[in-house]
Amino acid sequence: MKRKRVVILGATGSIGESAAKVARDIPDRMEIVGIAANSNAQKLAAQANELRPGAVCLVDEAKLDELRRNLNYQPQIFAGERGLCEIASAVEADMVLIAIVGTAGLRPALAAIEAGRHLAVASKEILVMAGEIVMREARARDIPVLPVDSEHNAIFQCLDGRASEVRRIILTASGGPFRQTPAGVFSTITVEEALKHPTWNMGPKITVDSATLFNKGLEMIEAHWLFGVGMARVEVVIHPQSIVHSMVEFSDGSVLAQLSHSNMCFPIQYAVTWPERVPNSLPPLDFAKLSKLEFATPRYDDFPALNLARRAGEIGGTLPAVLNAANEIAVSAFLEKRMSFPRIWQTVAQVMDRHRSVAQPDLDAILAADQWAREEARRVIAA
Ligand code: NAD
Ligand code: MG
Repeated sequence: MKRKRVVILGATGSIGESAAKVARDIPDRMEIVGIAANSNAQKLAAQANELRPGAVCLVDEAKLDELRRNLNYQPQIFAGERGLCEIASAVEADMVLIAIVGTAGLRPALAAIEAGRHLAVASKEILVMAGEIVMREARARDIPVLPVDSEHNAIFQCLDGRASEVRRIILTASGGPFRQTPAGVFSTITVEEALKHPTWNMGPKITVDSATLFNKGLEMIEAHWLFGVGMARVEVVIHPQSIVHSMVEFSDGSVLAQLSHSNMCFPIQYAVTWPERVPNSLPPLDFAKLSKLEFATPRYDDFPALNLARRAGEIGGTLPAVLNAANEIAVSAFLEKRMSFPRIWQTVAQVMDRHRSVAQPDLDAILAADQWAREEARRVIAA
């Protein structure tokens, strides 16, 4: 099989760096031909100098000079938000990996599909916001959408194309740093405490989402769209060890699970080499050393994110986009120490309550709901 030529949007982030590791690990299967980032010109240049992609994109145009100064070769350079769509579609590639935090990857993902590129999606936010549209566009062009989120990659592996025989999808959740913290002290939780994830090392936004369990809520909706399974059949179980990455129960009652160490290189590699598997240098599981694998029901009352997400997913329309956008604004206010930890879900709940969902929204209606929710969340936070 030939080498996959991959463009990485969000190359300087946690997923982007893991993707670069995979490319180093399986060089005859994966070649990075384009990289894009938001504003870290130095890091992007350093990555480019090492990986030598033919194309580089920086969204922050004010830093283009800095990028050029730090490059020691001359790749094609794209800039601005427009540049993201261009690098996703104009560069000769087989696959585009969307690893941008938040929703900025949506238009580039659609541009990539339109250009016939296979899509690997880490950015769950774009599937929460516009999963129906992304999946419909991909299906219309026969473009595979490969999940990189570890749970969805696990489900994709377990399903192996048999989505119609599914009884339940069981998403595992580590429970985050506050799995055992009494709800009574949630209002004293600091940013530093929220950023200490017990099992995964990730960017700040998703780390806070893992602490509130909004991450799992977003993932429920993500699973619904990726696999075409109704929300009622998507469940969550707490699994503190993060070894079982998710499970599928089939109509005959058999359950398949995917296990590995908690390292994003596993799902990234599978997305790149699918449908094949190839050897790598990642550490195998040693079952003699795994003392135990535990499972428990989430504390739904103490972590309202799960039920908010279930409601958003069930009502559908523009409500998932509203939940996602309000959460992004709330998380950044928390990270900037402008409000307490519980106010994240309180803000999201208030914004959702004020929204009138539009059924079967087109992209414009979704983008409008997203903008409305951001402004509404800012108002709620400022009040
Ligand atoms: P991160 O904060 O470490 O990196 C974010 C990347 O996105 C950076 O490269 C940044 O330059 C880029 N970016 C941010 N805003 C942008 C914009 N407006 N335009 C273009 N680029 C922009 O985040 P991360 O942890 O790597 O997460 C990326 C995505 O992957 C998120 O959607 C997250 O939910 C998802 N994800 C991450 C992990 C993980 O282990 N980190 C696991 C599963 C899913
Ligand atoms: Mg995940």
